[in-house]
Order: sequence, then structure tokens, then C-alpha cells
Amino acid sequence: MKSLLSKSLLSYVLSIFLLVFITGCLLSQIVDNYIFLISILIMEFIVMVIILLHIFENYIKPIQVATKTITKLVDGNYWSRFHYKSNGMSAVLGNEINKLARDLNQLSTQQDMKTEQLSTVIENTECGLVLIDEKGYIHLVNRTFISMFDKTHQDYIGSLYYDVLDDEEIHQTIQHTFLYERKIKETFSTVHGHYLEIVGAPIFNEKGHLNGSVLVLYDITEFKKLESIRKDFVANVSHELKTPITSIRGFAETLEEGAMNEEVLRKEFIKIIHGESKRLQLLIEDLLTLSRLENDEFKLMRTPVSMKELLNEIGLMGEQIATEKGINYIVKAEEDITLLADHDKLKQVLINLLANAVHYTPQHGVVTLDMDKIDDQLRIRIKDTGIGIDEQDLPRIFERFYRIDKARSRNTGGTGLGLAITKHIVEVHDGQILVESELDVGTTFTILLPIHT
Ligand code: ADP
Repeated sequence: MKSLLSKSLLSYVLSIFLLVFITGCLLSQIVDNYIFLISILIMEFIVMVIILLHIFENYIKPIQVATKTITKLVDGNYWSRFHYKSNGMSAVLGNEINKLARDLNQLSTQQDMKTEQLSTVIENTECGLVLIDEKGYIHLVNRTFISMFDKTHQDYIGSLYYDVLDDEEIHQTIQHTFLYERKIKETFSTVHGHYLEIVGAPIFNEKGHLNGSVLVLYDITEFKKLESIRKDFVANVSHELKTPITSIRGFAETLEEGAMNEEVLRKEFIKIIHGESKRLQLLIEDLLTLSRLENDEFKLMRTPVSMKELLNEIGLMGEQIATEKGINYIVKAEEDITLLADHDKLKQVLINLLANAVHYTPQHGVVTLDMDKIDDQLRIRIKDTGIGIDEQDLPRIFERFYRIDKARSRNTGGTGLGLAITKHIVEVHDGQILVESELDVGTTFTILLPIHT
């Protein structure tokens, strides 16, 4: 650019010299006075230089500055502006260049913002994303996808999908997406024990040609777990209901077939039918309680509950079932504590734990219920000197229908739902329930409840 400018400047200077020379030659023919001639030529030279400087300042220099600015804009520097004091056409040119630069700047800022927003969404979405071109090269993987497998971002980008993705199901999904040019969905489990759902979708260009594919991976492990819990629960409920119903039906049929006429058998069978129907009723009541507790709309009926009064209420029942079995029942509660709680639900918790303690404690054993205050929490402990719980069973006893000794628990009339209900009630009161136990020594259940003031 500079050389171009100096060349044109040189040609201007040469033209002036040529013009002055020609004018000098012409004037020398008519003017004899050399001094006059030289003065005219000097004057002409000065005028020419002034004109040249004017042209340079007003036309050549602005074009030079404008060209520089445009080159910077082309290179992506949208902050570049035309800074030159000019007027006339070059001022208009400068203004237009600056307007263009401002627009480009604004567009580029908007573009940057959109790109940033898009990458934030891609990076922070809960599902894994992978972008593959039509040749099978990976162009994009997001953070969630990386967290699903063992490799790093660098391992994936620019690699062929079959070199870096190990799961056969992913390969198949990609191949089918390319082959059938439509959305493909698969579910598979990874080596880390995760369940993934993969959806492959083809990408087409504006001409409708296949350009690549995008893979979306969802971690459905939690969903699968819930599904299996639900299946287990349905199977358990069916089994639990089937047992008493089969028994009732069997004894009713035997009665019908003739046992009705034998008084001893009749009495015995009717007693069994009555017992089984009571068990059925208990089971249904427990199932209903659980379902109510798990309902989203379930609300506790919180009222101020005097814990000493509550212990007195269940005291009689506790004493009765304990004495029936020859068990010593002790209550230790010095201070009365008032809790903002659901009275009936709390009572149910204590009765469940007390009944279990008595059930699983042999004759001459001791069941102790003590209550005290630790910091801002109420602590209730129900301790027995019973059969205890094996270490391996301890973490599972709060599961629905989990029984250690199934036959024995059924015989005691247990539904296997008592502790599940108990835990639920404690947790909806923002509390926690803990258990410590030693086989043949005894078990202690501890309930911690926040004291609302
Ligand atoms: P169930 O109605 O069968 O008693 P729970 O949910 O109340 O069901 O208890 C689950 C299991 O935990 C029981 O079957 C029993 O094996 C065990 N269990 C509960 N409380 C005690 C306890 N105090 N001592 C020993 N085992 C207990």
C-alpha cells in the first residue's frame, strides 16, 4: 500500500516538473525577460505543490486510512474504526466504514453470546451428547457423556467413533442411524452397572443429504432401580395376599366337603379362617398406611404433643403385652418434652417398636423405653434383651416385607411392613431412626426428633 502511494506521489511530482518544464519552454518563446520567466515558473511550481498537498491530505491519505481499517475488519478486529479528520466524500466514506464496523461488532457479540449459551446448554444438560460426522469422526462430546465413560475429552475429539467408544450397542445405534436414516433408540447396561438409553438421530444438510448423526444418552439407572423396586413390591404384595387367601379358601373348602359336621374340626378351621382374615386385614391396613404416607399430598396433623402423656397412653398396652409374655417393661422419662408432631402417627411408631421388642424377646427378658433430650433433639430409645439381629440383616430391616425369620415373623402376626412404616413416619417428622443390635444379646432402636419451638 505504502509503495503504491509513494509511486503515485512520485508520478505527481514528475508531472509537476514536466508541466513546469513545458510551460517554461513555451513561455521562453514569447517572454525575453528571464527573471520574469523564472518567477512565473517558481510561482507555478508552488501552486502545483499546494494543489498536490491538498489532494494528498483530502483524498489519498483518507483512502490509505480507510483501507487499513477495512483490512483490520476483514481480519476480525471489529473494534477497529476509521479515525481521520476529513470532510467531503472521505468523511462520508469514514462514517460508513465506522457504521459497518459497529454493525459487525454487534453481530459478532450476538454470535458469541449465542455460541456461549448453546455450549452452556450442551455442557450442562443432564444427558450425554455426541456429534459424529458422516465419516464417523467425533466432533463434539459434552461433560455428561465424558462422566459416563472412562475417557477424556481429548480421547474423543477427532477420533473415529469405533476406536474410542467401546460399547457394541452404541456402534449398532450409530450404524443403524446412518443405514436407515431415522431415529434409533436402544437401552443397554455399562460395565459400571449403569443403565443407559441411547437415541441416535441423523443430521441432514440443506440439500437433504446425510451429514452425520447426533447421539443422546440418558442415564436411566435410577428409573430401572425404581422399576425393579416396584416389581418386587407388587410380587411381594401378591405373595403376602396369596398366602392367607389360599389358607382361607382351603379351610372353607374342607368345611364344605364335610368337616363342617365334625364340631372339633369346624371350630378349629373357623378359628384359622378368622386368624387368616385378621392377618389379611392387618396387611391391607399397613399397605394403605404406607400408600398414604408416600402420597405427595400427605400432610402431618402437627399439634403440640406432650411426650410424657403419650408414653402414659401406650404404657398400659406395653405393660399388658409384656406381662402376658413374662417380660419386664421399664419406662424411663424424667422430663416432659413437648413436640410439634402428629400425635397418632408418633403413637403408631412407638407401638410398632414396642410390639416388636416384646415379640422378639423371650420370657424373663427386659424391654426398656427411655426418653431424654440431646441438644435440640428428642431421643427415644426402645431397648430389648431379645434375639437380636444379625449384622448382615441390619441394613435391610427397614425394607418393605423384609423379615429375618419369615415363618417366625408371620407366626407373630407381623406383616413385614411395620419398620418401613415406622421409618417413613419418623422421616416425615424430619427425624431419623437408628438401630444397634447383637445376636442373642438384644436390640436398641433410637429415634431422634427435632424439637420445634
Ligand atoms: P414384622 O411385622 O414382621 O415384625 P417389621 O417391619 O416390624 O416386620 O420388622 C422387620 C423384621 O425385623 C422382623 O421380621 C424381624 O425379623 C426384625 N426385627 C424387628 N424388630 C426386632 C427386634 N426388636 N428384635 C429382633 N428382630 C427384630
